[in-house]
Amino acid sequence: MFEDIPVDVSPMHEGERIRSANMFVELAGPKSIGAELVQVKDSVEDGKIEVIGPDIPEMEQGQIYPFAISIEIGGGELEEELEGVIERRVHELCNYVKGFMHLNQRDQIWCRVSTEARDAGFRLEHLARALSVLFREEFPIIESISVTIITDEKEVESFLETAREKYDLRDSRARELSDEDVDVFYGCLMCQSFAPTHVCAVTPDRTALCGAINWFDCRAAYKMDPEGPIFEIEKGEVLDAEKGEYEGINAAVAEHSQGTTERVYLHSIFGYPHTSCGCFEAVAFYIPELDGIGIVNRDFRGETPLGIPFSAMAGQCSGGKQVEGFSGLSLEYMRSPKFLQADGGYSRIVWMPKELKDSLIEFIPEDLRDKIATEEDATSIKEIRRFLREKGHPVLERAAAEPEPEAEEEEEAEEITMEEAPSTVPVVSSPEMSVPVAGGFRIILKNAKIYAESVIIKRE
Ligand code: SF4
Repeated sequence: MFEDIPVDVSPMHEGERIRSANMFVELAGPKSIGAELVQVKDSVEDGKIEVIGPDIPEMEQGQIYPFAISIEIGGGELEEELEGVIERRVHELCNYVKGFMHLNQRDQIWCRVSTEARDAGFRLEHLARALSVLFREEFPIIESISVTIITDEKEVESFLETAREKYDLRDSRARELSDEDVDVFYGCLMCQSFAPTHVCAVTPDRTALCGAINWFDCRAAYKMDPEGPIFEIEKGEVLDAEKGEYEGINAAVAEHSQGTTERVYLHSIFGYPHTSCGCFEAVAFYIPELDGIGIVNRDFRGETPLGIPFSAMAGQCSGGKQVEGFSGLSLEYMRSPKFLQADGGYSRIVWMPKELKDSLIEFIPEDLRDKIATEEDATSIKEIRRFLREKGHPVLERAAAEPEPEAEEEEEAEEITMEEAPSTVPVVSSPEMSVPVAGGFRIILKNAKIYAESVIIKRE
């Protein structure tokens, strides 16, 4: 089946990681542009394979190139609603190709080709050929398929525009419904290949955290393949409408996570937040010092107010873990009226990257738009606190306000009693905390929550 492809194509290569040391080239990713898009068309030239722009032999070792994958499919039973779910499989199927690594989805894709694959004679044309065969195999309802790989910068730019329009269309359609309008939610297990206990609960208000699959996509996928990785979840009793806790979701998550996770709140990062696999578009994180919530998206390269970048935070809360105070999110969920509603929604958000804030501005309540800090306003906790005070952010009403220091050089100590401090949350909550001790040892606390009767803040 893959005789004309010079590298092996098999699910066994799915976990392959290509590090810089054995990388020939990088495609798309944070330092370039890229996208992937599957479109259902009435007429598709079956078997057509095309590469627009330089292929591997024309590329230079160690360089980064723009990269897009455009797949057109045709078939009597195919519906537009299936595009998102079929597109989500691009990630998995690309990773079947030995020496090719694919991460993320939509316009966030990030790929690498190994030097071994280049030495074996692998070209992007072979990737297109492998995808063409694999998609036909995986989805028998695809009757015709054409795959185009684009590396020409101008062509990728123009494709990116088309792809983003299409993503917007899919996303805005899902906004027509809310959780109350349906009796059935969906679960997705696609990411269990790398996060074995992760179960996504997809509802009209909570688009899956990869951002690529909404409730409509799941409905179409389940109709097409009831035995597949997307399954129906009967809503069952509403246990807590505000937090988004449903009997049906708890039962489904307990069953499919092998009992690792027994309860899930859809709309809160406290208590039992939704688990996070690794391909989330953003992370919501609790900032205990401010009793507020920060959000960081995958594209943001700087440090968050917790002093770590997105990548480090993602590493701490991914893998299917339920980590109180952290939750992976899709950008689309941040447009939902139920966005973290149990935690206060946008009135609890104290920091987010500027680019992300600008992209969501019409979904942020008008009176809060200038009250949420970005990296341009503040980066440290102290700066953010000052910014929140200046702007009169409502989160200040929740937590005990700390007075501004009057003299920088004076040693100050302030005690916050538990009556003043937020009573329902720990003083410190962290998925991983490292404490150096004597003798060259280091104690690592996992999922630590530290409670205290009083907190003394001292200026050194
Ligand atoms: S993030 Fe969730 S919905 Fe998206 S592919 Fe993974 S399991 Fe499925």
